[in-house]
Amino acid sequence: MDKISLKHLREWFKKNAADLPWRPADLDAPRDPYAVWISETMLQQTQVSTVREYFIRWMKRFPDVETLAAAEESEVFRYWQGLGYYSRARNILKTARIVCEIDSMDSLPRNARSRMTSRKELPATRKELEALPGIGAYTAGAILSLANHQQEAILDGNLVRIFSRLYALDFLPTDKIDKGRCPPEQVRGRLFKSGMTICEKTPAEIYWNYAREVAESPKAYMHNEALMELGRTVCKIKNPDCAHCPLRASCKAFADNRVSEFPPAKKHLQKDWHGIVLVIESADHKILAIHGGQKFFKNQFTLPHFESPRNATTGLPAQAETYVDADQISSVQSIGQIKHNITVHKIECNVLHVQLRSKAPVRNHSAKTAHEIQWVKREATQEFFANSFCLKALAML
Ligand code: SF4
Repeated sequence: MDKISLKHLREWFKKNAADLPWRPADLDAPRDPYAVWISETMLQQTQVSTVREYFIRWMKRFPDVETLAAAEESEVFRYWQGLGYYSRARNILKTARIVCEIDSMDSLPRNARSRMTSRKELPATRKELEALPGIGAYTAGAILSLANHQQEAILDGNLVRIFSRLYALDFLPTDKIDKGRCPPEQVRGRLFKSGMTICEKTPAEIYWNYAREVAESPKAYMHNEALMELGRTVCKIKNPDCAHCPLRASCKAFADNRVSEFPPAKKHLQKDWHGIVLVIESADHKILAIHGGQKFFKNQFTLPHFESPRNATTGLPAQAETYVDADQISSVQSIGQIKHNITVHKIECNVLHVQLRSKAPVRNHSAKTAHEIQWVKREATQEFFANSFCLKALAML
């Protein structure tokens, strides 16, 4: 991106930067890396308007990495509940514990381990950050650039869309470009060895190179953040507001009147999953929760669930005996259907209420499943279950 475009971008950002709880009024001020890490992780897959309140609540309860590292996983999940993609919360907690040396650093590269000891703060190099659970290239770049003002590249969905339009790139970073398939003319010189039709760089490298160009500019932290904001508010997925865009003069897609063609559509591979979820209730009104061995929510307590054909009858299937003895069941009732999306899975589940004759046993381990189980008082389930899949099923009671 040329100097003039970057200057226009900066001026636009100074006038239009939204007031956000993780953004100081002084756009040149360095920030708390912990706050950048939390806000950027929350913002993955989630709208700014939703994240705003979650972030404020989170920072009140877990204002720094040490407080977070000392928290119970169930509480962390509660503060995340509603944001979805719970693996993000789990990884945040794992990373906090590694940084604070509560958890083992064995999984980290040796050099990352030694430099991280006794610091109790996030590391300050891309290599060390990317070695931590849940911190990928994007989040590492955001922490280093926005918080530490290092000249590090950022590439998120907003920047991909802007670069695709600015340079008329008709491929995505995740695409595989076949031998012989030519990217657009204006980038060919950068991508192809002279006289060859084989791509010299992968699509991801092409995008990252544009991101690095921005990162090498003075005040790169501001340019990076301005591009993220521009993608969110002006160069939007639908109906980009090109008339008010500071990059209009250098935008290839705009000049060619082909904005709607970029970026190319992503191929979605959504998988349907049909199943049964069991709400097993003891005679003393406790609900069975199970940890492990489930299709979804493998690392947190959930209701037992398993796959079944779409047209299966609503009677109790044989697999239910994994969780409960048949002679203890007093009634089985179909209480409704829930729909839920988890990552690429489009889920439809029949909810079966299984009433038992017996009281809940005291033990919290099931010999039948070899997984941890817990009997939760019916009135405490809202607090206990940290995923909306279970809460939807329990709402049918
Ligand atoms: Fe996006 Fe339009 Fe700006 Fe080009 S001119 S970067 S398409 S908003």
